[in-house]
Amino acid sequence: MIPATRLQTLVEAPVRPEGARYVLYWMQQSQRGGFNPALEYAVEQANALGLPVLVAFGLAAFPEANARHYGFMLRGLAEVERALAERGIGFAIRKQPPHALVRELAAEAALVVCDRGYLRIQRAWRARLAEDLGRRLVQVEGDVVVPVEAASGKHEYAARTLRPKVQRLWDDSLHDLPETPVRHAWTAPPVDGAIDLGDVGAVLRDLKIDQEVGEVRRFEPGEAAARRRLARFVEDALGRYEAERGRPEAGVASHMSPYLHFGQISPVEIALAVRRSGQRTGVATYLEELIVRRELAMNHALFEPRYDEYGALPDWARRTLADHAGDERPHFYDRAQFEAGETHDPYWNAAMREMRDTGYMHNHMRMYWGKKILHWSRTPEEAFETTLALNNRWFLDGRDPNSFTNVGWLFGLHDRPWGPQPVFGTVRSMGQNTFRKFDAEAYVAQVAALSAAEAS
Ligand SMILES: Cc1cc2nc3c(=O)[nH]c(=O)nc-3n(C[C@H](O)[C@H](O)[C@H](O)COP(=O)(O)OP(=O)(O)OC[C@H]3O[C@@H](n4cnc5c(N)ncnc54)[C@H](O)[C@@H]3O)c2cc1C
Repeated sequence: MIPATRLQTLVEAPVRPEGARYVLYWMQQSQRGGFNPALEYAVEQANALGLPVLVAFGLAAFPEANARHYGFMLRGLAEVERALAERGIGFAIRKQPPHALVRELAAEAALVVCDRGYLRIQRAWRARLAEDLGRRLVQVEGDVVVPVEAASGKHEYAARTLRPKVQRLWDDSLHDLPETPVRHAWTAPPVDGAIDLGDVGAVLRDLKIDQEVGEVRRFEPGEAAARRRLARFVEDALGRYEAERGRPEAGVASHMSPYLHFGQISPVEIALAVRRSGQRTGVATYLEELIVRRELAMNHALFEPRYDEYGALPDWARRTLADHAGDERPHFYDRAQFEAGETHDPYWNAAMREMRDTGYMHNHMRMYWGKKILHWSRTPEEAFETTLALNNRWFLDGRDPNSFTNVGWLFGLHDRPWGPQPVFGTVRSMGQNTFRKFDAEAYVAQVAALSAAEAS
């Protein structure tokens, strides 16, 4: 049974089993076959109605998505298709805006189930689908630990204001999700016009997207790869996470963010694995990042309509940055120079290279990387645009609520005023002290090795 706090009926209409051929699950955010509340809810409903389940995925232009993002996603979906087939569940992916595809397939569905996303486009797709759908539409939250509105009904000021609200609910939100056996297998022929994911490379080449940002080898896509990485992290690194997470070269990060972004793993599954690890240290710190910080980003995307704009930054931050807009900058770079990693700073350039060549960067380097773009751009507004554009272009986990919120954090979002500095004003700055705390040369060498592995 899926808890009621995860369910929201978007279209109130009676379930229509007469003449229906299936229960339709529109998969969008939760791109996985296991530990997926929306899928299990669809199976429960279908079993009760004596129907099979059909899962549909609409392949549409997602803002800023490129071959790196789509390659990771499509290879993950190919795995989903195989896993669903083994369970007797149908799957169809078509090149079509999801709301249009689902509306079409809903004509033969007893009810429609969807998962949940917080970005503007994800909410707009669901809202458009709900308009005159004529079928019951139930949204199931599966990609946060504590359902966002259950934790808070308003825009939270900072992690400290959200933390107690989330912590109060997280024991009740952390439960296993066993697979419900499918009673009525999908046996119908493939849906008309469905894409064959047997050759993802060919599908990818055919898409009109930015092909310049290519796939990376560092992250093997899909649910099974996510689980393997999680198991390795829990076994080898979680115990050192608390002490060493500020050291990019230490190798203690979980690398779960690309998988979380594409819904290839459930945050509940991660949190349970971490809690059950038996580690004495690291658990609380890791859950703070995975649940409080990540779900603060969802709160921001849901409750701040301008979450991707400079104007959404707190008043105090915009004021102080404006007051210091005329301060002399030690260096000036434009977006092309940043993107090419052509600054005077070898550590910054290494971070940019890691991002460009491998699609990932450690949290600590992300902070340094972004703070320096603010330091070395002509205006804070230009810095904001550059940071967000590079973040969303090159990171596999880009274009996420976490992207917009963390780029905002560089400019004072969810933070407080600090001692004044040139250019930054009272927005928190980051300087060369950063490199006293870890072995920056070892980091540069690691990036060189990772880049070489991508090129080989
Ligand atoms: C300038 C900047 C840009 C960022 N851009 C993105 C982005 O585009 N996409 C993205 O997912 N994250 C982003 N982050 C947040 C964070 O850096 C990454 O989530 C994290 O580094 C991912 O690596 P990991 O999974 O190995 O992290 P781990 O340290 O293993 O953490 C586990 C999980 O906790 C969550 N988490 C960790 N740190 C944060 C944080 N600061 N805020 C919110 N959640 C967090 C993530 O879901 C992460 O996967 C950004 C941070 C900064 C400072």
